[in-house]
Amino acid sequence: MTALPPNSIIGIIGSGQLGRMLAIAAAQLGYRCHIYAPETGPANDVAPLFTRGAYDDVAALIAFSRQVDVVTYEFENIDADALGALPRVHPTPRAVAVAQDRLVEKNFVTELGARTAPFAAVPDRAALDAAIAGIGTPAILKTTRFGYDGKGQARLSSPADADAAWTAIGGRPAVLEGLVAFDHEYSVLLARATDGAIALYDAPENVHKNGILDRSTLPAPEIVTRQFEEASALARTIADALGYVGVLACEFFGGADGPVFNEMAPRVHNSGHWTIEGADTCQFENHIRAICGLPLGSTALTSPRIEMGNLIGEDADDWPRLMAEPGLHLHLYGKHEPRPGRKMGHWTRLG
Ligand code: AMP
Repeated sequence: MTALPPNSIIGIIGSGQLGRMLAIAAAQLGYRCHIYAPETGPANDVAPLFTRGAYDDVAALIAFSRQVDVVTYEFENIDADALGALPRVHPTPRAVAVAQDRLVEKNFVTELGARTAPFAAVPDRAALDAAIAGIGTPAILKTTRFGYDGKGQARLSSPADADAAWTAIGGRPAVLEGLVAFDHEYSVLLARATDGAIALYDAPENVHKNGILDRSTLPAPEIVTRQFEEASALARTIADALGYVGVLACEFFGGADGPVFNEMAPRVHNSGHWTIEGADTCQFENHIRAICGLPLGSTALTSPRIEMGNLIGEDADDWPRLMAEPGLHLHLYGKHEPRPGRKMGHWTRLG
């Protein structure tokens, strides 16, 4: 692919904060962004062009793709077949098809050599009892599709919780996972260019609260550093197998026997927000570089110690105090209503 020259138009499917930060990075490189989404959102504040459309409207998506030079996306709950009908889409729609279905994803990575939590398919209520018999409890029931930030999940501490868990996830096709004993969670972020070159970021330790990322910290504890080589080799293998172009995030549990693959996101990721100030080239710029056919930028750290914190719901009301802290980098996404569980912004502290 020849590199897209400055002033080309990048189409981004999705109008959330990830699209916003992608559009900011794109603008810095001289590109303009055209957002496609059912509703305007944080990305529209910083992108000059917008098309309103549903994520499964193939005709509207094709019309949109004709107005842009390359198409990318900021979340994975898009109709993968609709995406597959478009020319010049990065990352490959196949990555969406894999990542949006937990069962497909687990089978895909297991074939590539990944260790995952023990899992069993639960297409219906009867299958849940069989899955519990096979996997045991404690366990987590997760809908195969449309789950994120802990949504569509229910924990079972004993087989007696089966009915409640099945109801809690809305009685939809699911996967039952054994609970992994781990001390630390971390993520491997990489960018892969059109020529197959890969740039790896250092892995942060991620701490979740109520199923939502709360903090990402570098350097991560030693166990993560020890597992990084194996985890990052797997992330590379996944990216190569998909012929992936762009930023890919793989989340791991730091198990006693090595990395346990949890899930992947075929896009820029919340656990990479620290790269805006904490790396020479942030995840958003490297994603734009990759999809535009440019060489990747350095992922070297800018500081020996980096911490990123999410502002969820009313956390963002604390902005005057955060803004006043010397050296703290505050990012607010321009969302008006601070609903519980809603990602309103984040901050990064270096050093
Ligand atoms: P997920 O949406 O799958 O990333 O799950 C959200 C969070 O729940 C993870 O970041 C973990 O903290 C926890 N979790 C999910 N699956 C498991 C598992 N199999 N064992 C232990 N903890 C889990």
